[in-house]
Amino acid sequence: MNLVIQIEHYLPQQPLQLIKTISKQANQSGQRAYLVGGMVRDMILGYANFDLDLVIEGNAVKLAQQIAKASQAKLITHPRFGTAKLSYSDFTLDMTTARGETYARPGALPEVTPGTINDDLFRRDFSINAMAISLNKNNYGELIDPHQGKTDLENRFIRILHPGSFIDDATRIIRATRYEQRLGFEIEPQTFQLLKQNIPMIDTLSGDRIRHELELIFREEYPEFAINRLNQLGVLQRINSSLKGDRWIASKFDEARSVSKLSQLPSLYLCLLVYPLQEEDNERFIQRLNIPTKLAQVLRDTLRLKSQLHLLDKPSIKHSEIYYLLYEYKPLAIQANAIASESPAVHSNLELFLTKLRYVRTTLTGKELINLGIPAGPQLGEILQALHAAKLNNEVKTGAEEKRLALLLKSYV
Ligand code: ATP
Ligand code: MG
Repeated sequence: MNLVIQIEHYLPQQPLQLIKTISKQANQSGQRAYLVGGMVRDMILGYANFDLDLVIEGNAVKLAQQIAKASQAKLITHPRFGTAKLSYSDFTLDMTTARGETYARPGALPEVTPGTINDDLFRRDFSINAMAISLNKNNYGELIDPHQGKTDLENRFIRILHPGSFIDDATRIIRATRYEQRLGFEIEPQTFQLLKQNIPMIDTLSGDRIRHELELIFREEYPEFAINRLNQLGVLQRINSSLKGDRWIASKFDEARSVSKLSQLPSLYLCLLVYPLQEEDNERFIQRLNIPTKLAQVLRDTLRLKSQLHLLDKPSIKHSEIYYLLYEYKPLAIQANAIASESPAVHSNLELFLTKLRYVRTTLTGKELINLGIPAGPQLGEILQALHAAKLNNEVKTGAEEKRLALLLKSYV
């Protein structure tokens, strides 16, 4: 099957010209280039996906360097792994030297050896991700599909390539669920049987690898679908016995999307995922996933604040009180609590802090107070804090009012 016409229609001009250039360069230097993976899958399905993945039988890094130079791309290379990433304003292009893999033990990172396109396709997760399109002169546009990926696309099946696949790499259990839910496909019955049977293999995965797969889920349009499915399969519980994917999570994820910046959404989803956990379970989760220090702090703050919310559960609370209860928490943890809390008063107090109170500053600075004759020292700190509280509570508005209050306080303390 030749897809040359589809490629022409599917790809925007810039990536299209680029793959033609790569094709020419590769052919001239006796190398062979192939489009592979998600883009091939999505092109056949008719979905936009311009993250191009190329496999090179030859030297991907050297070829990428030549292409990047000629097309002014941002280039990152990993010569040790034979990989390179070119970034353009609207799309990215990954180039990898064709390789085969063997697994020293389940869940370990594979040992990599140079190989052919067929070796490279055989190491992939599912048949629908294991198709390639030739960019070589003699068969440009030809679909290379040794695992019947196209038939599986037509039948809407997620299928592994060999029975040991989930044992080699149990992240594929999580990945299968992600594609199943995103594409609305079915996990092919034999694959599903093996998937269920191998759920304990999740234990062989490093924290980083599980976390990476969760992050991929959190970049989906509706991550709750995959989360709920992982719950139903018992995969979430295998990661941490207290995790849950249920209707509560689904509705909170939905709310998160309507309030959060896209860049913060994955971390916010994670906060909501741990929200029902006890602090000890959260600590176990942080350890299991090897969550980086900063993000771990956000998760801890989320649960610490959850235990203090009753203090904010009143409609008439002073703004300064809200401020001093909340200023030490990470904003994302506050946001997660605003979404998770069922109390309207708590919700609006948290939102008030996030949108207004946290930005309130006094007009007068410490230096200006010293110029007013207040000596540097603890008294200065107290007066500044009192001015800040007054400003938060709308008791002073202008600089002049602050000055008057400062002088008044000076005569008292
Ligand atoms: P997406 O649309 O989610 O980005 P993708 O197919 O591009 O889909 P990636 O996670 O970007 O998925 O991975 C790129 C390709 O690498 C996949 O198509 C798949 O062939 C291969 N791959 C990724 N992870 C694995 C894995 N754990 N085992 C085998 N192959 C994998
Ligand atoms: Mg991808």
